[in-house]
Amino acid sequence: MENFDLTQLRAEFPILNRKVWDKPMVYLDSAATSFTPQCVVDEICRVYNTCKANVHRGVHTLSQEATDLQEATRECVREFINAKSTEEIIFTRGTTEAINLVASSYGEMIENGEEIIVTAMEHHANIVPWQLLGRHKRVILRVVPVKKDGTLDMVTFRSLFNERTKLVAVCHVSNVLGTVNPLKEIIAEAHQYKVPVLVDGAQAISHIKVDVQELDADFYAFSAHKMYGPTGVGVLYGKRSLLKMMPPYQGGGEMIGTVSFKKTTYAELPFKFEAGTPDFVGIAAFKKSIEFMQRWGVERIAAHEKELLEYATTEMEKIPNMKIYGTAPEKSGVISFLIGNEHHYDMGMLLDKLGIEVRTGHHCAQPLMQALKIEGTVRASFAAYNTREDVDAFIAALNRVSAMLG
Ligand code: PMP
Repeated sequence: MENFDLTQLRAEFPILNRKVWDKPMVYLDSAATSFTPQCVVDEICRVYNTCKANVHRGVHTLSQEATDLQEATRECVREFINAKSTEEIIFTRGTTEAINLVASSYGEMIENGEEIIVTAMEHHANIVPWQLLGRHKRVILRVVPVKKDGTLDMVTFRSLFNERTKLVAVCHVSNVLGTVNPLKEIIAEAHQYKVPVLVDGAQAISHIKVDVQELDADFYAFSAHKMYGPTGVGVLYGKRSLLKMMPPYQGGGEMIGTVSFKKTTYAELPFKFEAGTPDFVGIAAFKKSIEFMQRWGVERIAAHEKELLEYATTEMEKIPNMKIYGTAPEKSGVISFLIGNEHHYDMGMLLDKLGIEVRTGHHCAQPLMQALKIEGTVRASFAAYNTREDVDAFIAALNRVSAMLG
């Protein structure tokens, strides 16, 4: 692929040189968290060593520099997802906190007996926050089923809307099945009923070029640590009109206009939703990870990952008793599978002994596991730095493990 020198790209990730059980390490768990290039680690050190001063709190030079770095990342994120304004970019701790923010703030405007549409393939982070709303009032979750191939049952989806529907909460890409959901269609349908849509973009943002205006998404949540970035940083994109209406999420420093015991006023967007000292060092370094993706090209990375996904799928299908969960025509990044009756933990542990790092278990999607009538799967996932040789090593290890267990 033009401009995609994998050796050069891999050289940016020192961690790729490490061994596991004295074997070359093959990392196939980037859907859980991706590795971080040296430029991001360097930026963390640089900020700590040069301008670790609190943001938005001082007139002194160091504080100004730290604030400028944080706000430069906000602009970088805005451009990356094509939001209209930096007012619409709220820094959080991750996807989970971004969804909880919407659930507790927008959730205040949901009345007793009203409904939220979710899907059966959601991560717990896009289920439990909506269930928590039910502690104080009766909020009903309507669930879109998943079809055999791992796509959403769109006929049922369309039938779930009524005058009590207040929100649709759906993932862009399933972290178990890899299904890329038809977001534009989902959002257009919901908007016909004037229902906003929250998108859990955790598994999409580093694999698909996201344009929030083109999608017309009302909320879009994602985590930096799945984007070659630091841990502890995430983003909630929200349309300004909605964020303006919503009450604050947490109270504290940074999110206020004025405070007195009689009356407190709140800061303007986006600060209204950013109480307390943020992970401003992580936020500064996050910019480097977005620049890394832009330098290599999200579309080029996606094409490379697609090749790996297709190659791995073809090779896996040759293994006796292989069952792949999620065969949607449009998939991204992940392959979940089981072999015969072998337990996913056993497979994961043996693969690790051979240097292959995969995920096992329910992947924080227990309702999906219940629908599939399984306890868990083994999941391999890909990122920019994976190679065909990684896939070959994975397939060879799978054949060995399968023979050992079988
Ligand atoms: N949603 C999906 C689809 C995910 O894959 C994940 C991470 N596994 C999350 C939400 C939660 O992300 P975080 O833990 O970074 O908040």
